[in-house]
Amino acid sequence: MSLLRTREDIERHEIQTLAPFAQQSRATRGRLHPQPAHRWRTEYQRDVARIIHSAAFRRLEYKTQVFLNGTGDHYRTRLTHTMEVASISRTLARSLGLNEDLAEAVALAHDLGHSPFGHSGEETLDRLLKDHGGFDHNDQSLRVVTLIESPYGDFDGLNLSFEVLEGVQKHATARTAPGLGDYPCACLEGQIADLADEIAYYSHDLQDGLEAGLIQPAQLAGIAVCADISRTNGLDLAGTDAKTARFSLARLLSNHLIHDVLEASAARIAAAGVQTADDVRRQEQLLVGYSDRTASETKALRSFLYANLYFHPEVSSANQRACDMMADVFNAYLADPGQIGREATRRVPNCGLYRAAGDYIAGMTDRYLLREHGRLFPRA
Ligand code: MG
Repeated sequence: MSLLRTREDIERHEIQTLAPFAQQSRATRGRLHPQPAHRWRTEYQRDVARIIHSAAFRRLEYKTQVFLNGTGDHYRTRLTHTMEVASISRTLARSLGLNEDLAEAVALAHDLGHSPFGHSGEETLDRLLKDHGGFDHNDQSLRVVTLIESPYGDFDGLNLSFEVLEGVQKHATARTAPGLGDYPCACLEGQIADLADEIAYYSHDLQDGLEAGLIQPAQLAGIAVCADISRTNGLDLAGTDAKTARFSLARLLSNHLIHDVLEASAARIAAAGVQTADDVRRQEQLLVGYSDRTASETKALRSFLYANLYFHPEVSSANQRACDMMADVFNAYLADPGQIGREATRRVPNCGLYRAAGDYIAGMTDRYLLREHGRLFPRA
């Protein structure tokens, strides 16, 4: 007997071990362009590999999470953020008896559409495209995997499984997601990646903010969730130094939020009485989420991060200069469409010059955009 496990063996193992409401690989709705099954890998394992091997994924290394890319070796980039989201997603999926590969695929793809220069870059692009449908990174992630990444000659997109697209869709509009709006909710694996994204950025943005000295530990004593976990774990926020807070707090916070999501989600899943993945999709409300108390506490933390970190003058003034360059480059493309890349030019007849220029800029790394600015606006 062979020691090797085939796709069929893995699918049988899933049927034996996953929860009844998990999304089984064997039960996938498939791909827009049908492709033969793989001998060794399930469909979602193939999706994970397609995303990791895409050019858009490699570019995440040079895109800003919060601190402008390249300004510090320890700050998160869009790539390391994505890896943290994938790691948390796998933990949540495994503990709830769900399909880890599917949750990981959604997590790895969730920020592929993020523009350069973080939050400020997204706002700038949204403003530049405001009369042409605007810009939203969730919508854009779906565009990247269905239209823009085109490694196959016969069709556009990565041709991912329906369930991965359903998870990536998140808040995307029907405009970018035809055929994905049949159900009110995504499968649980899709819902997980959304929460894992929040857990990752709450804890690591806080850590990076402390490392940069823009947030002081004593400020966090006023944030209920930070005060609670510090008290429970004997950490004196008012008296501690930034280094201790930075190492302890991020770890304690992500651990606390993961626990909370697991317990609250398990209770909601049980109360809803869902028996299959399609039962989950037909629910009016998402089943994966925080407890009510933690949901309101995380809102306060989010407001704190917006006020004290994302738009801190030290972060936003550097980002603002970069965003001014983004607007310059965008307007240069509108004035002279011959300047945009070959692939972007190919899409102009279908989606118009504004969208093609927006797609092109959204795909750029921070450093590529700065270089492009230097090319289009050489210093005299
Ligand atoms: Mg994210």
